[in-house]
Amino acid sequence: MRIIKAGEGEILDIELEEDFLKKNRQFAKKNKSLLEQNNVRAIDVMGSIGSGKTSLIQLLTSILREKFRIAVIAGDLTTDIDAKRIEQEKVQVVQINTGKECHLDANLVKKALLSLALERIDVIFIENVGNLICPADFPLGAHQRLVVISVTEGPWMVVKHPYIFKDAHVVAINKVDLAEAMQVSPQKLIEDIAKINPRIKAFPVSCRQNKGIMQVIEALSL
Ligand code: MG
Ligand code: ZN
Repeated sequence: MRIIKAGEGEILDIELEEDFLKKNRQFAKKNKSLLEQNNVRAIDVMGSIGSGKTSLIQLLTSILREKFRIAVIAGDLTTDIDAKRIEQEKVQVVQINTGKECHLDANLVKKALLSLALERIDVIFIENVGNLICPADFPLGAHQRLVVISVTEGPWMVVKHPYIFKDAHVVAINKVDLAEAMQVSPQKLIEDIAKINPRIKAFPVSCRQNKGIMQVIEALSL
């Protein structure tokens, strides 16, 4: 497995200065044209630690690999736990270790894209670092943004993190098999999301029970 580590001076600064955000957007644009030149669709998968991003990517990959040539870019501060899990699905995986940076940025993703044989890939899932806040400000050049939340994060997680939903396309509300035990209503979370972004498509999902995955696939037009 390839592991890309953020080197000294390579990561865009963690300060949310306008310059850095602007620079990131320029890199994101370049990533998007690189993807499009190669006919690759990329999906930025965002969500908290433990929401089920890796589990969902594993499931999506196991279903979609019959139809598409898939690669996964896995972002994480220091470990390759998620990348190793995804490698079980027998698809190309690139690990990006961000060090201290709590989100992926378009420059790091560019390095990962350049390490892949893009002409032999149809779909790339990019697992962002587990965080609901700053990934919203750092577009990566992906075509769609998929947010994974879970009922175990409590009833207020949507209203407390509005920004992540503003530019997202699809939301998977994971672990609905635990909704009753958590006393969290997936329907209420869907309503909260719709108030922030009425264009978003949100679905109750259980990766453990294999529920709602086909709706997510359909919403992503895959
Ligand atoms: Mg993960
Ligand atoms: Zn961050």
